[in-house]
Amino acid sequence: MQTHIDVHCPANGELVGSVSITPVAEVRGVVERARAAQQAWGKKSVAERAELLRRVRVCVLARQAEILDCLAQQNGKPRTEALMHEVFSHLELLTYFSDEAEHILEPSPITSRLLVHRQSYVHYRPRGVVGLISPWNFPFAIPFGAVAMALLAGNAVVLKPSEFTPLVADLGRAIYLDAGLDPDLLQIVHGYGDVGAALIDAGIDMMEFTGSVATGRKVAAMCGERLIPCVTELGGKAPALVLADANVEHAAQAVTWGGLANAGQVCASVERLLVHDAIYDAFVPKLVEKVKALRLGDAMKDAEFDVGPLVNERQREIVERLVNDAVAKGAVVACGGRRAERPGFFFEPTVLTGCTEDMAIFTSETFGPVIPVMRMKDEESMITEANRSHLGLLAYVFTRRREHGRQLAERIRAGTVMVNDVLATHAMAETPWAGVKNSGIGVAHSADGLRHMCEARHVNHDLVPWFSRELWWYPYRAGSIAHLQRAMGGLYGRGVDRLKRLIG
Ligand code: NAD
Repeated sequence: MQTHIDVHCPANGELVGSVSITPVAEVRGVVERARAAQQAWGKKSVAERAELLRRVRVCVLARQAEILDCLAQQNGKPRTEALMHEVFSHLELLTYFSDEAEHILEPSPITSRLLVHRQSYVHYRPRGVVGLISPWNFPFAIPFGAVAMALLAGNAVVLKPSEFTPLVADLGRAIYLDAGLDPDLLQIVHGYGDVGAALIDAGIDMMEFTGSVATGRKVAAMCGERLIPCVTELGGKAPALVLADANVEHAAQAVTWGGLANAGQVCASVERLLVHDAIYDAFVPKLVEKVKALRLGDAMKDAEFDVGPLVNERQREIVERLVNDAVAKGAVVACGGRRAERPGFFFEPTVLTGCTEDMAIFTSETFGPVIPVMRMKDEESMITEANRSHLGLLAYVFTRRREHGRQLAERIRAGTVMVNDVLATHAMAETPWAGVKNSGIGVAHSADGLRHMCEARHVNHDLVPWFSRELWWYPYRAGSIAHLQRAMGGLYGRGVDRLKRLIG
């Protein structure tokens, strides 16, 4: 039986380190320890918990170089990207939530229209132990964003990181412990899917899963059987719509970065490029020129480069298969289109033109450095094509007409649509990060995401205690029906709307 996972650098194959697999039989004990530690943590004020996150921020800043090294070794992403997407954005999330959590989680009053003699409010209490299962593409920012939010909400956390980047999770935990966190409040279980499944079955109170649609379905089904609240953040197939009046230079730069950052292994990547016929001949050569200029590199050796490797051979094979299928169906390789001739799991940054809807590269998530392009005759067909996917995480619109872009954005069925920009909203902790359609259920980030880490409990108390007793409790009297009917007429009858109009 396998007891360890050896971790290799995807850029050069070198052994980076190894972790012990947590035996499935031990996962329940881990969750129980977390639950015991949560008792005291959950009783602390939000302000006290926010103070810990401020200390974490200092520790992240102090150990940023280690985080970048760890990401370079296990993910192969350029250090600039690692800094921007993982460290910078985590610091922002820590800052936003530690500053705003008290306000977000303060009890919210509700005044009833009907029972005006009573008063309601919702208060937010920790759920208990939150289980997190995370992917390898942003192995620091994704799990630790959720870790920070869950802790702030008063929960303990058990994290099952991706088997491809487990050492990043160990480092992240060490940084949280540096800040003074009780070790039992943030624990890690290492392993493959069976360990993830064991975590769901170990008595957790909530699951936040980030990963593929296929695994998300299994996780959601397990949570459904156990009635555990479950947030799923799943795959994407983001369309970018370049309208006839787009700024060619700006849009070409945006699409290049949006399609190829992290070697295209981003759930928000531009995976379907829809270019209006009127701008196609000016835009596509500009895009190809920019993609051709990108430099591949190994973050462990090269100081300056743009695109790293894919995470493993399986991922490279998926990309290769989708490119070959598209070419077999008539797509043209404008640049790239094949494995790079160097060690590691590199694939050349690729632009495919002449793509059509029957190509799998336009329907399945590629998760690689490939931008497939489709020439579109008008805006209506661009919207239809954008909405054709079973996924709906991100979408992008490029146009000089800002208001028009906004209107068009509202017609695209995606969790987030950006006008004239790409990818960046994951770094805006105050905005919702959520998919529609098969891209997921529930929301990460934002005030709603933080509240969802809590049980929302409703308290309803009296202002005038005798009112209910007199009006509708036992005993029912002969006149009760007439009395209720008068009340209904007064509240909902025609006269009410007339009166409202009169009052203005
Ligand atoms: P994956 O689904 O293969 O694995 C994700 C995690 O689930 C891993 O930790 C894995 O060990 C675990 N797992 C596997 N089988 C399991 C099971 N049966 N029960 C419980 N856990 C199990 O995904 P991946 O390849 O690591 O990540 C890439 C995918 O993640 C892409 O589809 C990408 O779009 C998506 N993603 C989505 C977001 C988002 O915010 N929507 C962010 C990043 C990545």
